[in-house]
Amino acid sequence: MRCDHCSSDVPDGVFCTRCGAHQGTTVEFGDAKTREHRYAAHPGEHVAQPSVFTTLFPHLGHHKIHEFRWAFTAGLAGILVLYLAGLISAAILVSAFLVPVLYLIYLYEAQVYRDEPAIVLGFTLGGGIVVGIVVTVLERIIYNPLQYNGNPFSNAGVSIGGLLIVGLLMPVAQEALKPLPALFLPNRSDFPETVDGLVFGVAAGLGFSLAEALIGFSSVLTSLPAHVAPGNWIYDLTTLAVFSPLLQGSATGMIVATIWRYRRGRLGGREIGGVAMAVLAHIAFSAGTQVLKDTSVNALFILIWQAAIVGALLIYIRYLLHHALLDEAAHMGYAETVCPSCHMHIVASGFCPNCGMALTAAPNSIKRGRRPRVESPVQPAEKR
Ligand SMILES: [Zn+2]
Ligand SMILES: [Zn+2]
Repeated sequence: MRCDHCSSDVPDGVFCTRCGAHQGTTVEFGDAKTREHRYAAHPGEHVAQPSVFTTLFPHLGHHKIHEFRWAFTAGLAGILVLYLAGLISAAILVSAFLVPVLYLIYLYEAQVYRDEPAIVLGFTLGGGIVVGIVVTVLERIIYNPLQYNGNPFSNAGVSIGGLLIVGLLMPVAQEALKPLPALFLPNRSDFPETVDGLVFGVAAGLGFSLAEALIGFSSVLTSLPAHVAPGNWIYDLTTLAVFSPLLQGSATGMIVATIWRYRRGRLGGREIGGVAMAVLAHIAFSAGTQVLKDTSVNALFILIWQAAIVGALLIYIRYLLHHALLDEAAHMGYAETVCPSCHMHIVASGFCPNCGMALTAAPNSIKRGRRPRVESPVQPAEKR
């Protein structure tokens, strides 16, 4: 079969295995070449679906995604139980660790680091923690620590100066510093794909988020009695467990993904827009949270505001990664493999001909298991 879009001769399929375009005239809707109704890392979803796990954990297949969703839900349920029992310090600790620990498990699960776990984890998650410690300690020295009640999400001081620091200066400084560990990854040439850059950036952002949360809540953790009345802690706990790590991870993931695109010589408007989006989203998140707290609106609105920003950020990451995956589909050689998304046995190069998944986003175990299609009559199994 000849692909209508890249003119390669490719095996029959709904999608071209070389360029990923949707084949035939019966396109479901939209543009066949960009096929935004079929997100390249998870073809069951539209690009514009603000899904947390398929966006930030791109190497997971269907079943694994569900396991991670369940683990996350169980973690949130645990936090709720601790909160209702009045064990706020324990709830804060679980909230701070929940998403970073899930991400660590994901990195092991998908073996994104291939043969170099120590170097990759050290320069992403570990580097993020170091940057988080340094930056958060400096921030606390700069920003009126006397008025600071130890809770980074509820400051007592209301001032334009404070707002500029918390809502503008800190987000911009954090977005400039958080990608640094991933930038200095010594063996980064082993990880040329933009999807690798995204994952490394998310890991660094989550390391930062963990350090920021633990330092930010350190005085609460040390001063709060083990058992207190639950009060309004549920809102801060939700920000701490869900929205803050997702913002920090997504923003840095997008910036590092852009740096990876730049290294491939593919810096365009979409990538520059991604960096602008990450910084602006962080400013909107921090400044908006601060203003809403100061005007003492219902705390639920703060969570809705934070959720809207994180959702928009996730959609931009998917837009960026989708086009990067379509663009970077190198000819990997036809190989027999099992598609991690639709679980069909396929002979494919860059994309699953059946569901259109970009195989560069497959878990490393599946990439290793690719068996090159032997054209000679003697199959490898028969040689033995
Ligand atoms: Zn094609
Ligand atoms: Zn498939």
